[in-house]
Amino acid sequence: MIRRAMSEAEVAKCLRSVFERIQNACTNRPQELSNFEPRLVAVSKTKPKELIIAAYDAGQRSFGENYVQELVEKANDPEILEKCQEIRWHFIGHLQRNKVNKIVDIPGLFVVETVDSAKLASAINDQFEKRGHRGLLNVMVQVNTSGEEEKSGCPPDEAPVLAKHILEKCKNLNFLGLMTIGVYGYDLSLGPNPDFQCLRNCREKVCQELGLTSSQVELSMGMSNDFEQAIEMGSSNVRVGSLIFGDRTPKVTQQEEEQLTQAVGDVKLDNN
Ligand SMILES: *Cc1c(COP(=O)(O)O)cnc(C)c1O
Repeated sequence: MIRRAMSEAEVAKCLRSVFERIQNACTNRPQELSNFEPRLVAVSKTKPKELIIAAYDAGQRSFGENYVQELVEKANDPEILEKCQEIRWHFIGHLQRNKVNKIVDIPGLFVVETVDSAKLASAINDQFEKRGHRGLLNVMVQVNTSGEEEKSGCPPDEAPVLAKHILEKCKNLNFLGLMTIGVYGYDLSLGPNPDFQCLRNCREKVCQELGLTSSQVELSMGMSNDFEQAIEMGSSNVRVGSLIFGDRTPKVTQQEEEQLTQAVGDVKLDNN
């Protein structure tokens, strides 16, 4: 089946529908999780700038991309710079250390969600200052909650050490919270998603060891197929792509897509 690309009007409509579902999920949260509004990150990877501008015009401000080069191109696009002046970019892909200089220069960069080693954190911290940026750059620690080998992220028990490194050794970085991708297509009839539970437990440990309160440590979890459950379990940052912008690659699983991404990234690296 050949899929037609989504129109600008459809994107605005889908965005509204996701927003309503977020509001609904919020009302289903237990009392202790109900004191904040989750942030919706519209994941625009592989989608044309026209659809980003359409979503922006419909009120969306936070956007997620997971390929460095694609984010560089979109964030520096003259039309996006002119029409989307309050855009906030979330980098949500695997970040190689030799691309850190490109990431810190992104106009409108709000957060790098995928810091998974002390070396990477330090590289971002150093480059951010070296390239003349002021203030603090938000980062999240990506945790490999599912233990799948091909997934990025630090092991859950290393998250407190990495968070500590960021807080104590990276003066240009602001530790915003924890992020997980998790198993794709988890069957909810089996009970609460173990990846979400694992990230919550991680936060508890981070808070204990660093003397923080849970409201100081965000949780980035939940995508198109599970963002409502993620919100009910305390997510403060959901990353939703296909529900807003349409399917990217039908019949290709998330895992295959990640491997593909990795391969494309490697090829690009060789050509540089
Ligand atoms: C692609 C992607 C998403 C969005 O996935 P959808 O299923 O399209 O909502 C969220 N997070 C990350 C890290 C991604 O790479």
